[in-house]
Amino acid sequence: MNTFKYDICEALELDYGKTIQEASTVELYDAVSKAVMKAVAADWRKPYEGKQACYFSAEFLIGRLIYNNLLNLGLLDQLAELFNENGIELSIFEDIEDPALGNGGLGRLAACFLDSAATHNIPLNGYGIRYKYGLFKQYFENGFQRETADDWQRFGDPWSIRRESEKVLVEFKNQQVYAVPYDMPVIGYGGKRINTLRLWQAEPVNGFDFQLFNEQKYDRAVRERDEAEAISSVLYPNDDTDKGKRLRLKQQYFFSSASLQDILRQYKQKHGNDFAAFPEEYAIQLNDTHPVVSIAELVRLLAEEGVPFGRALKIARQTFAYTNHTIMAEALEKWDVRLFKSVIPQVYRYVVMIDKALQKELDGKGIQGEAQAPYRIIDGGMIHMARMAIFATHSTNGVAKIHTEILKNTALNEWYRLYPERFNNKTNGITQRRWLALCNQELSGFITGKIGSGWITDLTKLKGLEAFQEDAEFLRQFAEIKQMKKQELAAYVEKHDGVRLDPNFLFDIQAKRLHEYKRQLLNAFSILDIYFGLKDGRIKDFYPTVFLFGAKAAPGYFRAKGVIKYINEIAKLVNQDEETKDRLQVLFVANYNVSYAEKLVPAADVSEQISTAGTEASGTGNMKFMLNGAVTLGTYDGANVEIVEQAGKENNYIFGARVEELGQIEAVYDPKMVYEAYPRIRRVVDTLVDGTFSDGGTGMFQELYDSLLKGASWHKPDNYYLLLDFLPYCDAKLQANADYRDDRMGFTRKCLINTANAGKFSSDRTILEYAKEIWQVGE
Ligand SMILES: *Cc1c(COP(=O)(O)O)cnc(C)c1O
Repeated sequence: MNTFKYDICEALELDYGKTIQEASTVELYDAVSKAVMKAVAADWRKPYEGKQACYFSAEFLIGRLIYNNLLNLGLLDQLAELFNENGIELSIFEDIEDPALGNGGLGRLAACFLDSAATHNIPLNGYGIRYKYGLFKQYFENGFQRETADDWQRFGDPWSIRRESEKVLVEFKNQQVYAVPYDMPVIGYGGKRINTLRLWQAEPVNGFDFQLFNEQKYDRAVRERDEAEAISSVLYPNDDTDKGKRLRLKQQYFFSSASLQDILRQYKQKHGNDFAAFPEEYAIQLNDTHPVVSIAELVRLLAEEGVPFGRALKIARQTFAYTNHTIMAEALEKWDVRLFKSVIPQVYRYVVMIDKALQKELDGKGIQGEAQAPYRIIDGGMIHMARMAIFATHSTNGVAKIHTEILKNTALNEWYRLYPERFNNKTNGITQRRWLALCNQELSGFITGKIGSGWITDLTKLKGLEAFQEDAEFLRQFAEIKQMKKQELAAYVEKHDGVRLDPNFLFDIQAKRLHEYKRQLLNAFSILDIYFGLKDGRIKDFYPTVFLFGAKAAPGYFRAKGVIKYINEIAKLVNQDEETKDRLQVLFVANYNVSYAEKLVPAADVSEQISTAGTEASGTGNMKFMLNGAVTLGTYDGANVEIVEQAGKENNYIFGARVEELGQIEAVYDPKMVYEAYPRIRRVVDTLVDGTFSDGGTGMFQELYDSLLKGASWHKPDNYYLLLDFLPYCDAKLQANADYRDDRMGFTRKCLINTANAGKFSSDRTILEYAKEIWQVGE
């Protein structure tokens, strides 16, 4: 028996006294994970001499690790063999839940970057928070979203090593806590490089002292423990705005300070107290504004080491770079000065000094008085984190071409005029190891059979597939794989959601966080329009379609939860209608997460990417679907623009107003007029309030109706232009349906061309750009 198999059996024997045949799923999971950890132990944390990059992120949505680590180490086949000999399915580990330490795209991007960097031999380590509870688990009750805690460590955490000796102290105004690091190995494909994801856990400084036991001391110790642990206890289930402000700020400072102390300690071991070379040793990428307090913290820590303010600020600027992920005003983080001062007064002093330095620079550039207001870090009693990020770093990047252009030309235009050289674009990407090699082994094997396996580390190689676009037998096999993945998804959905899908239907999928700007409600309206069209006889020859949704709504986001309830009501109506059920089906799957995405993505014929133009910074879900051979039904938004640039407009279904057009009509747009002019629109919108559906007396549907036609104090009616794009969207959707029905070979060819042109969207390309153009690390 080879070492890996032997190590698995030994771990089972030692820890559980069981043979492989006797072990439970969790025991097998633990033993296999331990054997993998043993396999990487020798290469992990090898001293490294050159410059390193650090990725600071409040979220790492890593998903299930076991298959990915086995794949990258080349051990997946050996495990399959061992399990096969013992009559065990490799898929049993699908019962082990994902660590969901992120909300959505931003956290998943961080995870894809770690995989790509390790694969391409880039020294990039991740720094974040080891939340005790990840993103909530979702289930439905009468069609309403309900949430339960995600206790991801329930089955243990065999992938992390606690490094007690490297803990650091983090101080708040009235509190001190330890930050204890838990390290996970990040294993590159081929096992060449193993980087580290270091997640900090908050713990009390004073343990319980039972020798001096008295009730008062005990109560105090319990309180101190609870207050410390609260800091790393929950992931905020919100990917755009901030709730629970004080704790959120504590979380941000907690992991920023701990990570910087950690890095400074390493630096000092090498260079002592001369910090001049710091930016030549470390590059730190700030993933959105969540870790931006790091800038002031680094200046503060350097000041404690005796570095004068001016020099410390310069070091910070040379070290840090900032990634912007959104232009939505409500998501640009601001902290109330009073709150900030009451949590971390020692850092506030340095925020003030950085703001003064900004003021001086603006004076020097001839921007004075009132004209300084839009730049000032401290303005109107608030601390503007994005402003500090742009001023005190050397690079600000957007995450898709259109997004970066919007930053430069509108959202951050005043800053772009000040520092044009700091702005750059890094279009997001996804790792093809997880999002093709692992999640679609059938397609992966087929592609490798045709063009070799080079695509696994160089996704542009997929271009070679275009040579087969006229090959009927190739297209037949390509379509057959899609069919298999649809069957697999159907089996998974039946098991998880208790609903039968017909794999012969067209699979149209929208899977992403629930948000008004992503417009799941528009999708819902279009489905109702099709339903009414089928019943009226207006729509004929419709190819049977199942519309699938996967999404979590932030628990406090009333409208988003209303949309979930509404779609579940539509599903109830449509799925039991004898007249249409052989042509139309709707399902909202429960608890969408990375593992569910890995099932949905390979099975889609049509990928719904329908955000209002100018609102989705990039999107990465769109790339996953494209890679797996789905056509995009989408708007000119985020990375959709580049997807179409790569794969051709003729191979996708693009509709709707462009961002420039929206800018023009914004002032005159009147959704009420549109609603009154088009009976089809009126009919679907009215289902919110005419008794077709019930929201159980919650007022959710009336609220959605009002948001479209009346607006609210904080936004205008139909803020996301659902009614404006409705008819072109329905047309595009029916066109895709007709093409699928009338020319299957042609449709499959479109799918193939999407896969063949997905090369640009590898996070390998993205991370190599960061390494070369922002960090100057790696080969
Ligand atoms: C990729 C991914 C996302 C991001 O999807 P978008 O469509 O880009 O918003 C969100 N959640 C999960 C679980 C993902 O895998």
